[in-house]
Amino acid sequence: MKIYNTLSKSKEEFLPLEEGKVKMYVCGPTVYNFIHIGNARPMIVFDTVRRYLEYKGFEVNYVSNFTDVDDKIIKKALEEGVDSSVISKRYIEECKKDMEGLNVKPATKNPLATEEIDGMLEMIQTLMDTGHAYKAVDGTVYFKTRSFPGYGKLSHKKLDDLQAGHREIKVVGEETKEDDLDFVLWKPKKEGEPYWDSKWCKGRPGWHIECSVMAKKYLGEQIDIHAGGEDLIFPHHENEIAQSEATNGKEFAKYWMHNAFLNIDNKKMSKSAGNFFTVREISEKYDLQVIRFFMLSAHYRSPLNFSAELVEASKNGLERILTAVDHLNHLLEGKEEPEITEKEKELLVSAKEYGSKFEMAMEDDFNTADAISAVFELVKFINTNSDGGNSVFYLQKLKAMLLQYCDILGIIAEREKGLLAEDVEALIAERQQARKEKNFARADEIRKELLEQGIVLEDTREGVKWKRA
Ligand code: AMP
Ligand code: ZN
Repeated sequence: MKIYNTLSKSKEEFLPLEEGKVKMYVCGPTVYNFIHIGNARPMIVFDTVRRYLEYKGFEVNYVSNFTDVDDKIIKKALEEGVDSSVISKRYIEECKKDMEGLNVKPATKNPLATEEIDGMLEMIQTLMDTGHAYKAVDGTVYFKTRSFPGYGKLSHKKLDDLQAGHREIKVVGEETKEDDLDFVLWKPKKEGEPYWDSKWCKGRPGWHIECSVMAKKYLGEQIDIHAGGEDLIFPHHENEIAQSEATNGKEFAKYWMHNAFLNIDNKKMSKSAGNFFTVREISEKYDLQVIRFFMLSAHYRSPLNFSAELVEASKNGLERILTAVDHLNHLLEGKEEPEITEKEKELLVSAKEYGSKFEMAMEDDFNTADAISAVFELVKFINTNSDGGNSVFYLQKLKAMLLQYCDILGIIAEREKGLLAEDVEALIAERQQARKEKNFARADEIRKELLEQGIVLEDTREGVKWKRA
């Protein structure tokens, strides 16, 4: 299996630190609003990486943080006149709902910055003790960038070029640093902001330190894969490397993966330009499965353009897959069990070739675009090579293959059965009849059966009413 590593700018063979196990850290969102459609890209892409690794038999420990202390959260809290924890808690919950809709598996752990302050203070102390950090006159603690010889290795930047060309890395209010390249580990509190005690000043952590601390606490000093959007390469991930490697004296992450950006109608997403959508807004227009399928239609390192036509195309593509499964289910309904024929055995061998194509694409730096092409080839094969004359074994085998490859992509290819209104009405009539006959056991059974399907009954004076829960 090959992974493109930002560190070496090349595809490398994937060899985990520990056999059969993968330690993976994905930088999560800052929770000050609903997540936008761009944020959904890394979530879907790296969830798919995880799913494929699990399919290959690896045990994946997947950690992804929520940044719950940040200027944007504080600003929103001030606007609403509430504590910043009210804002972060609200949007963590909303983010989790969106992730569920996108069929992103829950992480092994979602650490929160505000719950990991002790670990951050400890790491900052170690950096102070080893001469990698210093306290400025106003109490701010900075990382001394030039003290870490490997700085720039991820973003492939040279320190002197950075110094000359990147004056903007000196943020307003950070005039106290000794060198433009130094970055904040801990900063003094301002009026109305959340803060914690420390021996340097009452204040709060810089952004970068949280990921170094959380990765170490939940995964260890060395991890296999560290991932996020490409905007995080510099300075966020470069700074994480500096902090972690200066503290632990070991290589922090073996493989660094970065997704390219999602644009809208070929333009950078921006609120002021009016081309900005939250996942929630999009979910009112499209099934989020369609959005997931769309996100995987391009390789994760290629820019992806979000437009109504392209999403429509994904919708149609997904529908083709669901229809193939409907077709197989239809053929399987009430079918007797004839023996699998020699011809069918041969056909299954051909069908497996699409599976190999799928795997080859995924093994080549998770090329989901090509993997999806292999799925479509399998769909075409199913449509031309299955009918009422086939055996149950053969049809079930084809269905299992299709469902499995879709599952690796996080796509649920079998439609929810869901009772139709007429089925519900028929069961209600049966229940009424059972009650008339004093067969309360059957009546209760029907109520329970309906409840399991998400149908709630209400006995009113006008008769029985029902609704979907
Ligand atoms: P943020 O909350 O801004 O830190 O973003 C959370 C994650 O979303 C990071 O991995 C970002 O790199 C990623 N991200 C933000 N905007 C986009 C975009 N337009 N396309 C792809 N990824 C993005
Ligand atoms: Zn991070």
